[in-house]
Amino acid sequence: MNRKIEIRNNLENVKERIAVAAQKAQRDLADITLVVVTKTFEVGDLEILYALGEREFGENRDQEASKKAEQLPEDINWHFQGQIQSNKLKSICKWADFIHSVDQFKYAKIISDQCQIKPMSIFLQVSLDSPVESRGGIDPIKLENLASEISELPGVSIAGLMAVAPLGIEADQAFKRVQMIHSNFKHKFPQAKLLSAGMSGDFETALLYGATHLRIGSSILGNRYLSE
Ligand SMILES: *Cc1c(COP(=O)(O)O)cnc(C)c1O
Repeated sequence: MNRKIEIRNNLENVKERIAVAAQKAQRDLADITLVVVTKTFEVGDLEILYALGEREFGENRDQEASKKAEQLPEDINWHFQGQIQSNKLKSICKWADFIHSVDQFKYAKIISDQCQIKPMSIFLQVSLDSPVESRGGIDPIKLENLASEISELPGVSIAGLMAVAPLGIEADQAFKRVQMIHSNFKHKFPQAKLLSAGMSGDFETALLYGATHLRIGSSILGNRYLSE
């Protein structure tokens, strides 16, 4: 099938599923942002998505994403959602509009140093794994302390929380827990309204439990053949 038609159909299908899930959850569609996870896919696919009206793209690798950002129009919001490495952060700050995976103060400090002119919106990644923090993300117990420290930094704005459902646990259970963590968190950090949760396999469940940013790749673009 023609790639353009394939992407258009998949995108329509995902959006329809989001609309159905939003209705079920009695959520306003305007509060839900679809981030199309374009990592490993070529610029041509992103151009197709752009022509279809998509403006939120998610990437995991600095080198790949900075090249894509150079080749595509300016009005795209780029979301970095991969594992952070200190030595890549300076470059990430040049192209990213949102960083979803901040889980340590030292990363926020680097972002702060890079983003004095235009503050960076970040999500704090919460670990739902056991053992906790085994795959990135901060232990929920340490979350408020981390956020308080980061709040003191100029150039960084905590937009919300991010989570990935652990393997081998019902998404339902995982996202219910995230919703609770987020709801407590918002009492202390009321500006942190966003919740980045849900991928191709579980976005409808995430939506039910308050996700505002769905990070969806393979349901729209197909299987990735390269590792992320
Ligand atoms: C790759 C990735 C996604 C998208 O996953 P799909 O299953 O392809 O939708 C979402 N979030 C993160 C953090 C990812 O690394």
